[in-house]
Amino acid sequence: GDKGPFVNEPPWDWTIAEVRRTFERTLAKLPKDFPVQVPLVINGKKVRTRETFSSTNPNRTDQVVGVVASAGEEEALQAVAAAKDAFDAWRDTPPRERAEYLFRAAQAARNRRYELAALQVYEVGKSWKEADADVCEAIDFLEYYGREMIRLGTPRRMGHVPGEVSHLFYEPRGVTAVVAPWNFPFAISVGMTSAALVTGNTVVYKPASQSPVIGYWVYRIFEEAKLPKGVLNFLPGPGGKIGDLLVTHPDVAMIAFTGSKEIGLRIIERAARTPSDAQFVKNVVAEMGGKNAIIIDADADLDEAVVQVLHSAFGYQGQKCSACSRLIVLEENYDKLLERLRAAAESLELGPVENPKNVMGAVIDARAREKILEYIEIGKREGKVLVERPVEGKNGHFVPLAIFTEIRPEHRLAQEEIFGPVLSVLKVRDFDEALEVANSTQYALTGAVFSRSPENIEKARRRFRVGNLYINRGSTGAIVERHPFGGFKMSGVGSKAGGPDYLLQFMVPRNVAENT
Ligand code: GLU
Repeated sequence: GDKGPFVNEPPWDWTIAEVRRTFERTLAKLPKDFPVQVPLVINGKKVRTRETFSSTNPNRTDQVVGVVASAGEEEALQAVAAAKDAFDAWRDTPPRERAEYLFRAAQAARNRRYELAALQVYEVGKSWKEADADVCEAIDFLEYYGREMIRLGTPRRMGHVPGEVSHLFYEPRGVTAVVAPWNFPFAISVGMTSAALVTGNTVVYKPASQSPVIGYWVYRIFEEAKLPKGVLNFLPGPGGKIGDLLVTHPDVAMIAFTGSKEIGLRIIERAARTPSDAQFVKNVVAEMGGKNAIIIDADADLDEAVVQVLHSAFGYQGQKCSACSRLIVLEENYDKLLERLRAAAESLELGPVENPKNVMGAVIDARAREKILEYIEIGKREGKVLVERPVEGKNGHFVPLAIFTEIRPEHRLAQEEIFGPVLSVLKVRDFDEALEVANSTQYALTGAVFSRSPENIEKARRRFRVGNLYINRGSTGAIVERHPFGGFKMSGVGSKAGGPDYLLQFMVPRNVAENT
């Protein structure tokens, strides 16, 4: 049928008792099915493997959420072959029809909003609200990219020369490898996958090894939407081996990746090698990381700023590429702001996120924990501890919430992405210095400014060079369509997710001119 204009999926209103009760009931019910048995899916067939790996609850590591089939080289080759076989028919399916699959998948996700969110509480340690936001964003991607493809699917008449009809139109690239992160385990997977699919590519989707059970749901909503077999193949497995194989496979034309800078750069490098018989130059879209700053101007509304800074720095334990990890404060406001920030950070409820009062729980895994603890030690050498609050819990990957002061721009704490609940405060003399410091990393993803000065806001617009700048708002929580999301410099290559240019990257433009 005809679709109305795009609207964002509204998040649950947690003040409604029935919403809270339903979420609680869902949380109580899910573990009865643990561990979920997760197969690979190749050409529509569920495949078990001799080797498996397990996915555990970060807040309670003795709880096994899933036991997951682990793809080896053979299965990866089969998945690419299946995607290649399915390509021609899928490419030739009209764009509007492809969009309908996305709308049906959106409905399948909407029907399971509670379950898809509650599962994230267990598998990746999201708080209730963050988990729900992730599911809403996934639905938004489906609804938005579906409509975008309808818009782009009509050939465009070019020029007005008499005796000529010239049309510009788009075609898919081929087999696309989607290599997804665990931190927005449903939304970003659905976003990259649906963009590839709706533009006519076939997909081999590798979920992050920390979130394969949620990853399996990405497959299942499309299964429920009756996507033809082979068009989407589901391939959990060891990142290094399977990832490299997909990236270098001669039949993989496109790679959509979100994750760390290290892996992103490795993918870009490997994908760039073209043997003499290569049929195409691979296209890579890679969203990589950030070292995002919030600037607090001398006249900022501090009450508002403190709440937003804490949310941006510590929401989902700081495990967002958009997280605020540097707070740049003008000296006029410095003491006042720090006192309020400290008090507010001391009052946050910390602990396992199954309990909705806790805003911060465990980080994703043991490796992340080690890395974050190391940075906290570095912070103690480079600066001064303002806040260090341990998170109480038995069996989880807990790290303290930490805020450091007296960090200087050249310090490692001001330069390196930590991906955890660690915030560094930098003091500056004036707004110009604030902008200079803000821009002084190799990343350029998000940033925010709290100011009441029209002049400084205007300066920030022009000179705070990040992909997503927020004025009088925190640095996280981009909304599909309203805030097309993505950065540049070492934060990534490619156009913004949830924005009007995103789908173009998954296609090649063709032009046909007919002499009439
Ligand atoms: N889009 C998310 C946000 O705006 C961040 C995505 C990410 O961390 O990869 O907060």
